[in-house]
Amino acid sequence: MSDKFDVIVIGAGPGGYVAAIKAAQLGLKTACVESWTGKDGKSQVLGGTCLNVGCIPSKALLEVTHKFEEASHDYESMGILAKSVDIDVAKMMERKDGIVKQLTGGIAGLFKANGVTPIHGHGKLLAGRKVEVTDKDGNTKTYEADNVILATGSKPIEIPPAPFDGDYIVDSEGALEFTEVPKRLGIIGAGVIGLELGSVWARLGAEVTVIEAQDTFLPVVDQQVAKDALKQFKKQGLNIITGARMTGAEVKRKLVYVNYEDSKGKQEAKFDKLIVAVGRRPYTDGALAEDSGVTMDERGFIFVDDNCKTEAPGVWAVGDIVRGPMLAHKASEEGVMVAERIAGHKPQVNYDCIPNVIYTAPEVAWVGKTEEQLKAEGEEYNVGTFPFAANGRAMAANATGGMVKIIADAKTDRILGFHVVGPQASEIVAQGVIAMEFGSSAEDLALTCFAHPTLSESVHEAALAVAGGAIHVANRRKKK
Ligand code: FAD
Ligand code: AMP
Repeated sequence: MSDKFDVIVIGAGPGGYVAAIKAAQLGLKTACVESWTGKDGKSQVLGGTCLNVGCIPSKALLEVTHKFEEASHDYESMGILAKSVDIDVAKMMERKDGIVKQLTGGIAGLFKANGVTPIHGHGKLLAGRKVEVTDKDGNTKTYEADNVILATGSKPIEIPPAPFDGDYIVDSEGALEFTEVPKRLGIIGAGVIGLELGSVWARLGAEVTVIEAQDTFLPVVDQQVAKDALKQFKKQGLNIITGARMTGAEVKRKLVYVNYEDSKGKQEAKFDKLIVAVGRRPYTDGALAEDSGVTMDERGFIFVDDNCKTEAPGVWAVGDIVRGPMLAHKASEEGVMVAERIAGHKPQVNYDCIPNVIYTAPEVAWVGKTEEQLKAEGEEYNVGTFPFAANGRAMAANATGGMVKIIADAKTDRILGFHVVGPQASEIVAQGVIAMEFGSSAEDLALTCFAHPTLSESVHEAALAVAGGAIHVANRRKKK
C-alpha cells in the first residue's frame, strides 16, 4: 500500500466515514483510520459511536419497548386481547446487536465499493499533514496526505461524584447492555440520552427516577412543547426531578445510594442501577501531536471556521469534536461539505436548519428557533399550533398527545421555528426542515395540499393557524 493519500480521515463515525466515501466519490485517493476493534479482539469495526453504541442500538431498543408498552397497556382499549405479553431481554439485545452488525458491516462494504482504504489502528496527526497509525500490537506506520480530516467524535462525561464502574454506575453504553430490567433505575441528567434510555427501561417495568440539576425541563426546547412533553412523561410514570443536583453516589450491598440536593435540602435515593448521562465531551485523546498546529477551546472542542477548517493548513475537523450540536446528521453534513471543499467545490452547511429529535414517546422534534429565543432576540412573530387530539389519524393510531407549533416572522411570514411533540415527530419535522431550507412562509404551507387523513395535516393546520385561519380547531386570534 502506498503511504501517500489525497485525503486521510481519522475516525469512522458518521462524520468520518461519510467524508471518506464522499471524498473517494469525488476522485480523491482516500484512507480512513479507525481504532475500534470488535469483540474478537482483531477485526476493525466502522460506524463510530452512532452505529455501535449510540443512535442505532438505542433506537432498536426504543422501537421494541414502545411496541411492548403498546401491547401491554394500549391494545385492550383498541379491542386487541393479547393476554400474556412478556419481554425476552436477551432476544431484544440479540436483535439490537444484529442490526448494529449489519450496519457496521455495510460501511465496510461501502468503503470497498467506493475505493476507500480502511486502516485499522489509532491515528495521530503529526505536523505537516502526516498521520502516525499505531496498530493493536503497538506497531507504528506513518502516512502522508494533502488533506487530513479529524473526526474522532466524543465520549460520555464522567463526573467525580459518580465514577463509572461498568456494573452499577454506567454510562449510556452500559445502559444499552443491561441483561435484565433493573427494578429501580436512577438517571443523572434529563437530556436527550437520559430521557431516551429512561424510556427504554421504564417501558419494561423499571421504576425510573431522573435527577436533573437545572430548574427548567429541556431548556433548549420550546417551553410550550417541553411542558407538554413533561406532562406526558410524568403520566407514563417517569419520575423527573428538576432543580436537583447529584452530589455523590456509592455502591453498597449491590445498591447504588445517590445523594442529591434540591430546593428542600439534602436527599438520598437508592437504585439497582444508575445511568450517568450528563453530556459528552469531544474526544481527541492521543490524536494530536503537540506541534500538529490544531488548536482547541478550554472544553476541548477543536477550533474551526464555518467551513470546518482548523488553524493548521490542510487539516479539517467535523462532527462531535467541533462546535454545534452533537448529532450524527450534523457530523455527516460537515463530512460531505469538507470532502467537497477539498475537491474544489464551495458548499456550506446551513446550521440554522439542523433538526433535533428526542426519540421518546411522544417524540419531541424541532428545527429553528424557539419562542424563548425569539423573545430574547426581540423578534416579532406569530404562532400557530394544532393539537394531535383534533387529528383523525392520530385518534385512529391511539396517539393524540402533543401538537405541531409553527412560529413565523410577524412581518415577512417566513418560518423561523417548527416544533413537534407527538407521534412520528421525528418524521414530521422533516417537513419543517424542507420548508425552512426553501425559505417558505407559513402561508406557503397553508396553501399546500396535504393528504387526508394523515398526521401531517397537523402541519397544515398549524400553518393555517399562524394567520388565525385553522379549520379544525378554534383559532387563538381572529383573522384580520
Ligand atoms: P463518533 O461517532 O464518535 O465516531 C468517532 C470515531 O473515531 C469512533 O469510531 C472512534 O473509535 C474513532 N476514533 C477516535 N479517536 C481515534 C483515533 N485517534 N484514531 C482512530 N480512530 C479514532 N445522534 C443523532 O443524530 N441521533 C440520535 O438518535 C442519536 N442517538 C444517540 C444515542 C446515544 C446513546 C449516544 C451516545 C449518542 C447518540 N447520538 C445521536 C449522537 C451521535 O452518536 C454522535 O453525534 C455521532 O456519532 C458523532 O459522529 P462523529 O463522527 O463525530 O463521532
Ligand atoms: P445533555 O447535555 O443534553 O446530554 O444533558 C445532560 C444533563 O445533565 C443536563 O441537563 C445537565 O443539567 C445535567 N447534569 C449535569 N450534571 C448534573 C448533576 N451533577 N446532577 C444532575 N444533573 C446534572
